[in-house]
Amino acid sequence: GATIGILGGGQLGRMLAVAASRLGFRTHIFEPSANPPAADVAHAVTTAGYDDHAALRAFAAAVDVITYEFENIPTAALDVLEAERPIRPNRRALATSQDRIAEKDFLSGLGLRVAPYHAVNDAADLAEGLARIGAPAILKTTRLGYDGKGQARIMADADADSALAAMRGAPAVLEGFVSFSHEVSVIAARGLDGSVSAYDPGENVHRDGILHTTTIPARLTPGQRSDAVLMAAKILNTLDYVGVMGVELFVTADGLIVNEIAPRVHNSGHWTQNGCAVDQFEQHIRAVAGWPLGDGGRHSDVVMENLIGDDVLRVPDIAAERNAALHLYGKAEARPGRKMGHVNRVTRGAGDPRRS
Ligand code: ATP
Ligand code: MG
Ligand code: MG
Repeated sequence: GATIGILGGGQLGRMLAVAASRLGFRTHIFEPSANPPAADVAHAVTTAGYDDHAALRAFAAAVDVITYEFENIPTAALDVLEAERPIRPNRRALATSQDRIAEKDFLSGLGLRVAPYHAVNDAADLAEGLARIGAPAILKTTRLGYDGKGQARIMADADADSALAAMRGAPAVLEGFVSFSHEVSVIAARGLDGSVSAYDPGENVHRDGILHTTTIPARLTPGQRSDAVLMAAKILNTLDYVGVMGVELFVTADGLIVNEIAPRVHNSGHWTQNGCAVDQFEQHIRAVAGWPLGDGGRHSDVVMENLIGDDVLRVPDIAAERNAALHLYGKAEARPGRKMGHVNRVTRGAGDPRRS
């Protein structure tokens, strides 16, 4: 069978490799650090840095198609890979989501709403941005941020200096603080044939800047729910996207605001493993391999809880719960803030015709 190359060997790469294997594909992981979570389940692993172009070329030559589990792949590495094999999702999706300013320019160009934003490279930019947008606001590095890292809140103008110092000289963007009632995300997929399938939106709660729970269904009016899905479809179609994407949204009194997009399977889509016949990982592999998309309809209500750091100590108790599906990533050391696994609590058979 065909071999799917996956850039990145974290838990997302691991769950992609399991899904690929279930469909009869071989997987080959490319990952700089040794013994990553995906190595246990993949057929082959290349341990090399993204500056090792010979290793990248050999990896590409050994696979049929290349995908990725994270968006911060260096441009020069992509050039090497793309000369050998197709990369799905494509370069434009990566370039757009790697940079928060390019992302917001793209989204607002589509007519979607984003938080007011202002590029900040120095103190003068920040003063100008604060004068225009006003506090409270958030200063974020334009690149490489995740799990709330590389962000500083500005509650009043007096916080400006310390916020700028927290960027450590990296290019940043000032965002107006959106007063949202709650956060939701849409996990959507687009196939090679251009068909789009979106999962039911989930409601996300963060703790210390890290996703804590996703609850499905989200609290949304029918109008908001279809808006959310249509927005995701517009983004995917415009990017000629192939694969699964996560679209994070703020729910406000006057509509949905896009926070950010992630060109990959997404933590807030983990509930699909136990809520849908075809989960986000299989859906992504199907799209990348050029298969038709699968049925992403939801058959159950689910609450996904991330197990972060010492949360794994609760695994024996969780293992004894009814209707709780555990997904552990095989990480040996439970450091604070480290995602060790998740549990999907299936609360109701929403689509079961024997009910209701
Ligand atoms: P992820 O791990 O999702 O990639 P990230 O580090 O890229 O996270 P964001 O998603 O930009 O960070 O922000 C993390 C969280 O901080 C958001 O989910 C939201 O709760 C809050 N937040 C971010 N930007 C804003 C904003 N402009 N207004 C209000 N809250 C915000
Ligand atoms: Mg992000
Ligand atoms: Mg986010």
